[in-house]
Amino acid sequence: MSPAEFEQETERLWTQVKPLYDQLHCHVRAKLVEKYGKDKVPETGLIPAHLLGNMWAQEWGNIYPLIEPYKGAASIDVTKALKAAKYDELKMVKLGESFFTSLGLDPLPATFWERSMFIQPKDREVVCHASAWDVDLNNDLRIKMCIKINQEDLITIHHELGHNYYYHYYYKLPVLYQNGAHDGFHEAIGDALALSVTPAYLKQIGLIDTVPSDDKGLINLQMQDALDKIAFLPFGKLIDQWRWDVFSGKTKPSEYNAAWWALRAKYQGIAPAGDRPDPELFDAGAKYHVPANVPYTRYFLARILQFQFHKSLCAAAGHTGPLYECSIYGKTAAGDKLRAMLELGSSKPWPDALEAVTGQRTMDAQPMIEYFEPLLKWLEEQNKGRTCGWQ
Ligand SMILES: [Zn+2]
Repeated sequence: MSPAEFEQETERLWTQVKPLYDQLHCHVRAKLVEKYGKDKVPETGLIPAHLLGNMWAQEWGNIYPLIEPYKGAASIDVTKALKAAKYDELKMVKLGESFFTSLGLDPLPATFWERSMFIQPKDREVVCHASAWDVDLNNDLRIKMCIKINQEDLITIHHELGHNYYYHYYYKLPVLYQNGAHDGFHEAIGDALALSVTPAYLKQIGLIDTVPSDDKGLINLQMQDALDKIAFLPFGKLIDQWRWDVFSGKTKPSEYNAAWWALRAKYQGIAPAGDRPDPELFDAGAKYHVPANVPYTRYFLARILQFQFHKSLCAAAGHTGPLYECSIYGKTAAGDKLRAMLELGSSKPWPDALEAVTGQRTMDAQPMIEYFEPLLKWLEEQNKGRTCGWQ
């Protein structure tokens, strides 16, 4: 795929999910107008970035209490359940591993348990940002994490183990092939499995007693997910968009900040807290991946791929109901598909790897839209009579 084709491909996927983002943006803006007043939040304009609960306005889960559709309606408090069941750091990781082994995948090697860091050491500074490693490219799998007993870290553990299982199934390939099929694959594996951490699954493993059966609980749950996963999409896309124009020389150094905020406005529909006219300002530099030169489209693609993987793995598992209810826990037929993809590493073009799981050779955002269908309907209802979009 040429660079131009790649850019077109990301634009195509963005076009698929944009209607979902637009509905979320519209509703969140309306709630922020209610909270702060229309003198602070323009009713039909850009949302001030500092009101979205995250330094980069990239994921909005922190303002969930402001947005919660049905106050107090049966959302599931996994954090409380984990604490009540006396989970510690090790038990959290064991729970993550048990998901993978339930699919018929191998247990993690003994060295994983000896050499990983799960708990923040008291005697020295460490980087707590969670990461997964194969230290010698020979199955020396580890994670490094300062685990907290909460829902977010339980999901992060699944995410990191997703990397480890990829390492594990391709470490016998030549070193050059010990990689994800493309950048997005590596980030999507664990997240795809974490989509199977459904209320029914949590009940099955004894973490909660009852599965909330009303629609209100479902909408609350989907809103929580959407504030992170859907809100992230335009941000995930625009970082490299900005970088491509910088690298090609299209954006001159004096225009770095203006180009940054132009993309933030165009894709995310957000504005800086105040004017940023000084050409010396460099707000893009506040995002770690920019100065660290870490490619970013991988996260955009991973968000989309994880739902595409999930849908296909659910089909392999024989799931028939709505996609958001599916858990592939214990379904070895799904595990077989996953393993077939993992084992390829980067030894084949990525469409081959995609095909191993999904039977398709192109990326598709439709499963993500299908997953969020109840929320999308709810949002469209809420947004009736509102002017959505932004100038
Ligand atoms: Zn990752």
